[in-house]
Amino acid sequence: MKFHGGEIMLPEYKNEPCSDFSKQENVTLMLEALKLVDSRKGAHYPLIIGGERYNSEPVIKSINPSNYDEVIGTAASATVEQAEKAIQCAAKAFESWKNVSARERAGYLFKAAAILRRRKFELSAWMVEEAGKNFSEADADTSEAIDFLEYYGRQILDLDKGMKVYPYPGETNECIYIPLGVGVVIAPWNFPLAILTGMASAAIVSGNTVVMKPASNTVVVAAKLMEILEEAGLPDGVVNFLPGSGGLIGDYIVKHPMVRFINFTGSKGVGLRISKLAGEVSPGQKWIKKVVLEMGGKDTIIVDNEADLQAAADSIAVSAFGFQGQKCSACSRAVIVEDVYDKMVDMIKERTEKLKMGAAREPETNVGPVIDKAAYMKIQKYIETGKKEGRLITGGGIQPGKGYFIQPTVFADVEPDAVIAQEEIFGPVLAVIKARDFDDALRIANNTEYGLTGAVYSKNRTRIEKAKREFHVGNLYFNRKCTGALVGVQPFGGFNMSGTDSKAGGADYLLLFTQAKSITERL
Ligand code: NAP
Repeated sequence: MKFHGGEIMLPEYKNEPCSDFSKQENVTLMLEALKLVDSRKGAHYPLIIGGERYNSEPVIKSINPSNYDEVIGTAASATVEQAEKAIQCAAKAFESWKNVSARERAGYLFKAAAILRRRKFELSAWMVEEAGKNFSEADADTSEAIDFLEYYGRQILDLDKGMKVYPYPGETNECIYIPLGVGVVIAPWNFPLAILTGMASAAIVSGNTVVMKPASNTVVVAAKLMEILEEAGLPDGVVNFLPGSGGLIGDYIVKHPMVRFINFTGSKGVGLRISKLAGEVSPGQKWIKKVVLEMGGKDTIIVDNEADLQAAADSIAVSAFGFQGQKCSACSRAVIVEDVYDKMVDMIKERTEKLKMGAAREPETNVGPVIDKAAYMKIQKYIETGKKEGRLITGGGIQPGKGYFIQPTVFADVEPDAVIAQEEIFGPVLAVIKARDFDDALRIANNTEYGLTGAVYSKNRTRIEKAKREFHVGNLYFNRKCTGALVGVQPFGGFNMSGTDSKAGGADYLLLFTQAKSITERL
């Protein structure tokens, strides 16, 4: 515990521990939370604009991907008029919120973190049902959301001290960070709580107000976050909850002249569209919009001939099939040096076949369903392509039933430039590629348009150092999996078509939502 005279007394930042589901007591807590969630399914969630509730027709229906007959809840789907209202309300709230001290703004985040901690199993249970996350994946998502709140709350207190400048005779000089204005936060469904919480909380703690547009697949989890922010006492209009179809209201909110910045996480296609539209100046607009875009990945784990092969096989399976491969950081390519290739293929197959597929709410499930019908169809198409491009090692099919279940699928002998080696599949499909040697493996690892995460399994120091210099990804790991970056520990963001490398959960992140004002007074 640290004590600072006159400052908020805060424990030192540390990551929220994940729950250990090998302990029966945690499984019991999750099962109880699932019961609670069951009793609340089917509720309707309105838009919340300036603290007022609004409805619309038609509504967004959120479906359980483990059982598509079940509706998790419905949400209002914003119209363009309602989107306009949300932007106006955010602009009005900005006039007072920008003058609220950093310390007070941070306080709302700490309070929201405390509420989230108290409701941890409940929030995780909503994600089990709405996103198809197994217990550990859902719990990690909630933990990460708590981390973002705790971390950005602390970061703003640091940033509030301003930029260090040198003294100059006869003047006082300072350089302070001030907010930008109204922001639009557009989030994906794959970390429905963590990413939405991180993107929105960073923007508001920096003094901005936002229009928060969650992904349509996971509106209920997003509504729960809004509930928590309201419970934390956040003033009306600071966060305006605007579920709605990206296709219908996306362009409108991105192009709006009163919007100062867009904080987006999602696919490359949508991200590039936002980048283009935000670059055009709308009538009445008097600033250059700032865009923070975090997009897709095609992430590689390299296995050298001098490596712990069992550890590599374990990490490849975990990184490729954790949350059904639906992570931007998921391993979708294993590039293996020739000498150990055949052995590794066997080990990956064996490890993958141990994974248990089932409904996300079954405690023993490793691999749950993919998010929706569109993903289910698209991934199966890629599997068909894979059957032409590689040798099917395991999986390749679906599990019949009322969920979107696709078997963890491994293709070996895939060429580095094959479709399944280049395009983001965002599902449980792994391409295994043979490399002549370590240099060839590095070359293959860098041959996509993305640059998000990567990992290298090697015991060879020289090669590790070479990969540190040459493997061009935003998050590079050695001798461990390529997923699971921790807030404050492994700042996260990608190169190339993976995004603007914003490094969420890093000390520079809040700078993206501020502008520096240099102030001099002649004495
Ligand atoms: P997506 O289809 O791009 O959707 C992301 C968000 O954009 C959703 O809220 C969506 O709304 C909205 N949207 C859709 N069309 C829009 C438009 N024309 N204008 C503005 N917004 C629009 O992505 P996703 O399927 O949700 O998420 C998966 C993708 O996210 C993958 O590519 C993954 O790699 C990437 N991702 C990247 C990171 C990272 O940190 N780099 C992290 C997580 C995920 P609707 O839901 O209403 O369509």
